[in-house]
Amino acid sequence: MVKAVVGACWGDEGKGKITDMLAADADIVVRFQGGANAGHTIVNDYGKFALHLLPSGSFNQNVTNMIGNGVALDIPQLIKEIEEIVAKGVPRPKIVVSERAQVLMPYHRLFDTYEEERLSDRQFGSTKSGIAPFFSDKFSKIGFQVWELFEEDRLREKIKNVLEVKNLMLEHIYHKPLIDADELYETCRQYGEMIKPYVIDSVQYMHKALKEGKTVLLEGQLGSLKDPDFGIYPMTTSSSTLAGYGSIGACIPPYEIKEIITVVKAYSSAVGAGAFVSEIFGDEADELRRRGGDGGEYGATTGRPRRMGWFDCVASRYGCRVQGTTAVAFTVLDVLGYLDEIPVCVGYEVDGEVIRDFPTTGKLEKAKPVYKVLPGWKADIRGIKSYEELPENCRNYIEFIEKELEVPIKIVSNGPARNDIIMR
Ligand code: GDP
Repeated sequence: MVKAVVGACWGDEGKGKITDMLAADADIVVRFQGGANAGHTIVNDYGKFALHLLPSGSFNQNVTNMIGNGVALDIPQLIKEIEEIVAKGVPRPKIVVSERAQVLMPYHRLFDTYEEERLSDRQFGSTKSGIAPFFSDKFSKIGFQVWELFEEDRLREKIKNVLEVKNLMLEHIYHKPLIDADELYETCRQYGEMIKPYVIDSVQYMHKALKEGKTVLLEGQLGSLKDPDFGIYPMTTSSSTLAGYGSIGACIPPYEIKEIITVVKAYSSAVGAGAFVSEIFGDEADELRRRGGDGGEYGATTGRPRRMGWFDCVASRYGCRVQGTTAVAFTVLDVLGYLDEIPVCVGYEVDGEVIRDFPTTGKLEKAKPVYKVLPGWKADIRGIKSYEELPENCRNYIEFIEKELEVPIKIVSNGPARNDIIMR
């Protein structure tokens, strides 16, 4: 049985918390895409943690956490995160890494930084974690799968070949120091030693696990609107953020993915550049940012202040649809308790016409939000355990959005902790 926990919008919806919670009943939690470029914030009995690469099942001793083949594997970062949580008293997590995962090289970060520098005011707002250069190399077939770290002669030869073109770019496009092949070989050898204890044949592993009836949780990073195909291209990420990609990035038969839990936040936030129709600014945005999430809406990886906005039905309905959502987890609802009235974006006005279907980027950039204003509930809803106990206006807000999303909201999250949860 496979369940996926994925995001509906730009990311930061609270997937980490939902995954951490659902991990209690899972055998395996898998990261199947992305890299260390975004983070999940998790609050549990051990404390507060920002994970970037480690799957959110890492706090559950009964869970094996897998880095699937679809992930950009930043080896020093993974080891650092494991040691960090262990140092804070978490029992050493069970981690396995696919031998087919590709390795994020130090030069991927460099190229990410240099390219943003070159683009100057046209930059993508990259987190400079090397993700775009990494995936470019993967599909240009000059990436390194984990197993290649252990084949010395072959590795040396490949490094030489790859550096030929990398160094030409460094010299002539970016005017930066060149990379030394021996040094890179030594780095790769060290990477190999660091990762060796975790490496497995993930295809066999997953096949066997599913045959034995194990419960697998796919953990998505970012959200639908950052998907390279269905998101706000080109202001997207570089690997698919959709649950369907779990069948590739973790080698799971597509028909095994039975539940797709899409995490939807009660208001909007985004990081990086790109169209954001229901964005708000000034004091209104500052207040929501300050009160948002758990201690403010600031990037878990970068610390950057997130862009803020009202709930967007057009984007969220589309985001749920492209995920193939079977149930919604509606999060961070407690944060809205301070508002007298809550605007919700129900349509986009594009060239004088109001649309309800999320358009391609050109139209999106011209879209103006059409708002419906709902009454607030003016109450602190943290600590409430049953749906019926929520204030009436709060239930109306949830039910209005549920109707707009066209998929059932089955989980409501009313606080950052594991047990701040209302099941419907
Ligand atoms: P992710 O990348 O989707 O896991 O999201 P992030 O971890 O970046 O952002 C979610 C933030 O909201 C974290 O700081 C969580 O601790 C916090 N959070 C999650 N659910 C809730 C909730 O229901 N209420 C509040 N107040 N905070 C929440």
